[in-house]
Amino acid sequence: MKKDKDNLHHMTPEEFRSAGYATIDWLVDYMSDIEKQPITPSISPGDIRASLPNHAPEKGEEFDILLKDVERIISKGLTHWQHPGFYGYFPANSSPPAILGDLISTGLGVQGMLWATSPSCTELETHVLDWLVELCGLPKQFHSSGNGGGVIQDSASSSTLCAVIAARERAGGSKFLTQMCAYISDQAHSSVEKDLLIAGISSDHIRLIETERDFSICLEKLNLAIGHDLNNGLIPFFVVGTVGTTSSGAVDDISGICDITKHTKAWVHVDAAWAGSATVCPEFQHLLNGVENVDSYVFNPHKWLLTNFDCSAFFVADSRPLTKALSIVPEYLKNSQSQKGKVIDYRDWQVPLGRRFRSLKLWFVLRSYGAEGLRSYIRGHVAAAEWLAGEIAINHKLRLVVARSLSLVCFCHVDGDHASEVLLKKLNATGQVLLTHTVLSGNYTIRVAVGGTYTSKRDLEILMKLIEKNI
Ligand SMILES: *Cc1c(COP(=O)(O)O)cnc(C)c1O
Repeated sequence: MKKDKDNLHHMTPEEFRSAGYATIDWLVDYMSDIEKQPITPSISPGDIRASLPNHAPEKGEEFDILLKDVERIISKGLTHWQHPGFYGYFPANSSPPAILGDLISTGLGVQGMLWATSPSCTELETHVLDWLVELCGLPKQFHSSGNGGGVIQDSASSSTLCAVIAARERAGGSKFLTQMCAYISDQAHSSVEKDLLIAGISSDHIRLIETERDFSICLEKLNLAIGHDLNNGLIPFFVVGTVGTTSSGAVDDISGICDITKHTKAWVHVDAAWAGSATVCPEFQHLLNGVENVDSYVFNPHKWLLTNFDCSAFFVADSRPLTKALSIVPEYLKNSQSQKGKVIDYRDWQVPLGRRFRSLKLWFVLRSYGAEGLRSYIRGHVAAAEWLAGEIAINHKLRLVVARSLSLVCFCHVDGDHASEVLLKKLNATGQVLLTHTVLSGNYTIRVAVGGTYTSKRDLEILMKLIEKNI
């Protein structure tokens, strides 16, 4: 490396160009070899740190050494989320257009806290979220042409936190905090409870509503709980419906929830973090029946819509309670466009001030694949999961614990929890697949979340063969 006389060396444009090409080459090679690697690394806690020097280097190092160390050290401790045999948790899609969109975002180094700090950053975001409204058949209250609109957050957890904050504001703010009650099913995602606690709702005011046999929220119990709290002078302020629960893919009856809450002032939020992506297909839009009456909605293109983490699409029917709660304008952020009220300043729609130019990667994905490509992507996974569920259903040693939901298949060994646990361990030990588990009605359950960018029916045939070999 060139030695500059003050010991500071920025890459020259040519060095940057060749390091950039080398990095993309490395990533392409990583992906083309991924199936040969075991999905989870066989290392012990501390192994990776033990391979790293104790101190940051005093002198700058060459880029090719850095890249070699990614290969030599980092790649030894990776879980290969993009391996087509990855069925754990929910997917975290990655695709070339999204990677490149994110690269441009990083390269631009734009910080889009205000419209004024990069108009393209704000306007592209508003625009692609309006595209999503249309593409996913979402109701018009989530379109930016009215009082509401969409915003990209880092995660569904943050999106739901914003929903809680807006709901708290609309219900009178902190003055009434000790009276506020929230309602979520016992299958709602753990992040919802965490968000409520962060917002200052006391844990004994978080009502965990029991679920039906299909793990959807029991409307009768919800109705009773709300009525009971109203009678006691409490304020039902927040109700969550989940479309596609994490454990089993259960779908709450959103219309039914809205029928119950319409006589209250409660804010209804729908969490479709995983399943929401499926609504690019018209045949799955019925999952959101009733969403036209809710206050906010979230789904994660970073799970199952080919867009790299982080990209959580959050929509509100009316942004005013959100911005009222989150807008504080110090002197140093004042500018004429914001003061005229003609622009969106997304800093007021989220907890942090700063924000990345995330819409670029989503824009690249929507344009590269097109609606048709995205639909056939989702349909491919759903059809493959349907095939797998059929194979499991006819296998006398296996049992589907619940009906398949979209591309999520939940099953167990008929011999019980221990046999299921052993089966899961054996499958994961092959290194060719990764599955995770949950507990449904007290039963140890193996989950197969089909949704990897490169996962196809062929991969599920491999999985089924492994299952047959190991039961
Ligand atoms: C994954 C998931 C979440 C959390 O998503 P993050 O973006 O990681 O915060 C919330 N709700 C449901 C239903 C999920 O599946």
